[in-house]
Amino acid sequence: MEKRKNRSVKFCVRVVYSTAHDAPDRLSFHQAAVTVSYIVRHTMHRTVSVSIKQPLRLKSLFFFALSVPVLFSQAEIPEWCRALPRPEYKVLQRVPISDPWFEVYKVAPAVFAIYEPHQSEEVISYLIVGDKRAALFDTGMGISDLKKVTSELTRLPIVVLNSHTHNDHVGDNWRFDTIYAMDTDFTRENARGSREDAQAEVGPGQICGKLPKGFDPRTYSTRPWKITAYTHDGDRIDLGGRSLEVIATPGHTPDAISLFERANGLLFTIKWMTSPS
Ligand SMILES: [Zn+2]
Repeated sequence: MEKRKNRSVKFCVRVVYSTAHDAPDRLSFHQAAVTVSYIVRHTMHRTVSVSIKQPLRLKSLFFFALSVPVLFSQAEIPEWCRALPRPEYKVLQRVPISDPWFEVYKVAPAVFAIYEPHQSEEVISYLIVGDKRAALFDTGMGISDLKKVTSELTRLPIVVLNSHTHNDHVGDNWRFDTIYAMDTDFTRENARGSREDAQAEVGPGQICGKLPKGFDPRTYSTRPWKITAYTHDGDRIDLGGRSLEVIATPGHTPDAISLFERANGLLFTIKWMTSPS
């Protein structure tokens, strides 16, 4: 991680949402613009040129939502589940993997969206692969084995960063050796793991389809995970041949971050920047 020297930046980005707690079709150009302007206002206090070009239209945005399983009859299928599969995903290249809990889509060169469509959060984690290592932006629910999925996509070492540390984004952090986390009390508290929030994720109406074989919802919890190093606003993560900038975007949580790949114009972010819920 090296400090970014020049904070002036011109935005011309494709916004790639790492999480979506509402239906994907609710995302709009306006929201994307709000997201970018938020980052400019709150994290780049110096001269900034913002250029949101017209190509930032709906079809160039990727929307995903996240989630987990349960045991309901056909009559108990929740409404969000009936809307699957999301039509927005059809334009993306599906990447075959062995675990049916996940769906993987290639959303840009060497960028994979790892989607969990069977739980109501419909979470999406992103694997961004460089020449020497890969960054994993979030680790999902921890209901199945995300590390097994990433091992099918790359053999390079992986550094994990979390868009924020709510339970549905850090579920498989414990499986990974290298985790860069924000230096906040909120983050440290969440790294201790928890049971209550995890249990709510597998309650009535939360699961669409089958839970992974061997998963026991009664014992499901978010496992503790270890922080390898702290990361800060302005840090640069060198993956070899591509570089990600860490941009603090607090609001949804105190430790929310976005990742900006300047060279390819990709901004990985959470959808709601200002809501604590
Ligand atoms: Zn959250």
